[in-house]
Amino acid sequence: MEHRSEARIDTAAIAANISRLKKIGGVDLLAVVKADAYGHGLVEIGLLAEKSGADWLGVALLEEAISLRTHGVRIPILAWLLPPGSDFRSAYNHDIDVAVASIATFNEIGALKTKARIHIELDTGMGRGGFLDEWNEFLESDFSHVDVVGVFSHFARADEPLEPQNTDQLLRFNSMISELAAIGINPPIKHLSNSAATLTNHGAAFDLVRTGIAMYGLSPDVTTLGTGSSLELKAAMQLRAKLHLVKKVPSGSPVGYGATDVTTRDTTLGIVAMGYADGIPRIAKSAGVFIDGKRAPIIGRVSMDQFVVDLGPDSTAKSGDWAVIFGDGRQGEYTADDWAAASLSINYEIVTRIGPRVPRIYAPHVY
Ligand SMILES: *Cc1c(COP(=O)(O)O)cnc(C)c1O
Repeated sequence: MEHRSEARIDTAAIAANISRLKKIGGVDLLAVVKADAYGHGLVEIGLLAEKSGADWLGVALLEEAISLRTHGVRIPILAWLLPPGSDFRSAYNHDIDVAVASIATFNEIGALKTKARIHIELDTGMGRGGFLDEWNEFLESDFSHVDVVGVFSHFARADEPLEPQNTDQLLRFNSMISELAAIGINPPIKHLSNSAATLTNHGAAFDLVRTGIAMYGLSPDVTTLGTGSSLELKAAMQLRAKLHLVKKVPSGSPVGYGATDVTTRDTTLGIVAMGYADGIPRIAKSAGVFIDGKRAPIIGRVSMDQFVVDLGPDSTAKSGDWAVIFGDGRQGEYTADDWAAASLSINYEIVTRIGPRVPRIYAPHVY
């Protein structure tokens, strides 16, 4: 069946990004594949990352980790968002490493008496996951029923390399690790860096870097670090949709709900077969599509399943033609960064919110 929309994932781009990040990081690499691999497809990207040299996979949820294991991933997997009451027995049975950020979860895992593999998560200044107020009490725990494989934390401002908070977090990380050492706990794998830190802060690499967004070829922050292509990364996702309909309209034609836009000349409208239910942000006003070698801006409000672009009076586009919503920008098309800017958001949100109605196709980009 022909699709009305598709996200084309260039697997060669992801493989190239992994080898580049491994080289930059200089240590083992954990490929972050949470949230359906940032919208690129959990299992496909997990297996691809393994094949392309990733040493670890990382996910937020236990069910993501189990899905990777049941589909044949063999490298170590770390899952870091397991609240008390999670199925730690299944995690152990599937050989999944789990993050521990509270005494409650630590005790649940210890009670299994399995010597389960854990990574101690530290709050060094992110103010999100990790030990903070329970730390001193935690240091008095009985560690005999677990295998402490790792210790890790997460940067809040790695995309602003000159921010003193980065140094503060690094110092705090080292001092908490010393406190563990003082009670005889020396986790072999220390890890702190996300994509932004991997690219800018070599002193924070420790034994493993955890790269998400950069592996997909996107910059962690285009304003502070430049675009993905300026970082020599390759954007892996190209999003396309068909023009459901192309029609000529006279000047003065209202378009869409609320008639927020009215054509100011005789022109051609293209109705694109994707909408906010598929992840096209309703707030985006200054983005559009790329078709016949040029950009066509959005006109009117984005609807649930479709949106309208102004193809211009001379357009030769026809109903059924493909329009590129975003790609790597090399041909002049909009990028995920352009859509993010148009939506007051970040490229992470653009790619992770591409909806389940959009098939992921593992093939090179087309124009
Ligand atoms: C999501 C996440 C990452 C990856 O962050 P990027 O900015 O995409 O590289 C790394 N570590 C943890 C704990 C995360 O939650």
